[in-house]
Amino acid sequence: MQNQITIEQLNSALSSLRTLRSSVSHVFETLSNGLRADHGEEGKDKLLLELQELLNNVNVNLRELDQTVNNLPIPSAPFNLGNTTFLSQETTQDRQALYTQLVNSYKWTDKVHEYSSYAHTLLSQNSLKRSYINSGSTKRRGKLQSNHNVAPAQVDNVINTIDRSFNDMKITISRPFASNAVVQINLSHVLKAVVAFKGMLMEWVMVKGYGETLDLWTESRHHVFRKVTENAHAAMLHFYSPTLPDLAVRSFMTWLHSYINLFSEPCKRCNCHLHHTSMLPPAWRDFRTLEPFHDECKQ
Ligand SMILES: [Zn+2]
Repeated sequence: MQNQITIEQLNSALSSLRTLRSSVSHVFETLSNGLRADHGEEGKDKLLLELQELLNNVNVNLRELDQTVNNLPIPSAPFNLGNTTFLSQETTQDRQALYTQLVNSYKWTDKVHEYSSYAHTLLSQNSLKRSYINSGSTKRRGKLQSNHNVAPAQVDNVINTIDRSFNDMKITISRPFASNAVVQINLSHVLKAVVAFKGMLMEWVMVKGYGETLDLWTESRHHVFRKVTENAHAAMLHFYSPTLPDLAVRSFMTWLHSYINLFSEPCKRCNCHLHHTSMLPPAWRDFRTLEPFHDECKQ
């Protein structure tokens, strides 16, 4: 085929490019070395002569590259997309532009592909991505991916065990959405909470006052319980553990249980019940020590 570039032509073009580059770097090398001992008495003139000769070489090599490149056939289109090239021979006027459009969309999808693979790499490193573990290794993935897909009986078992270990906190399980559990927690006469599970993973939590009606989506009308809800979301993310999902649930419930003294225990930092500006009780509990703090007072 006339339009096809042969390997030999490409090779000779590349090698003349290489020669040109090496002769150019030779010029700069000599120039940066400056006057040398072997230039002798009339050092300056000798150096100038040497540079002139090197520059001549560059000129010759450049002309050679020019020639070999000129010998290369010009590709008829930026890409050869197989039989679609024939679209450019279309006689109907409004279809003539089709091939260019096709090439453009090809480039575009190529870019989309490239960017999405970058995005995939970045997202798979995101530790807040909780439901699926993309660690790259399929072996590990197979083991961990089942966090959101465990048998209901297993979830019940974990939650009932937690329920039995606190006598002032009542936990009840319901399943209004098929297999996933929705858990209601009554913490003495202090608060109620509802937690939506996806398998063994806690997905959503809502905290309300003791006297309020509880559902997953309406916020409490009291500022303090809206604050506790906010902090409970932080706790849910903090305790999340892909390898030990039942421990995550247990840690979260223990943390939530520490709100039993929400209205009776003062802040560990300022020793006040109500914060002097927000006028709220200590609505934060330390993840480790479970000590009460005002949001404004936590470290
Ligand atoms: Zn405080």
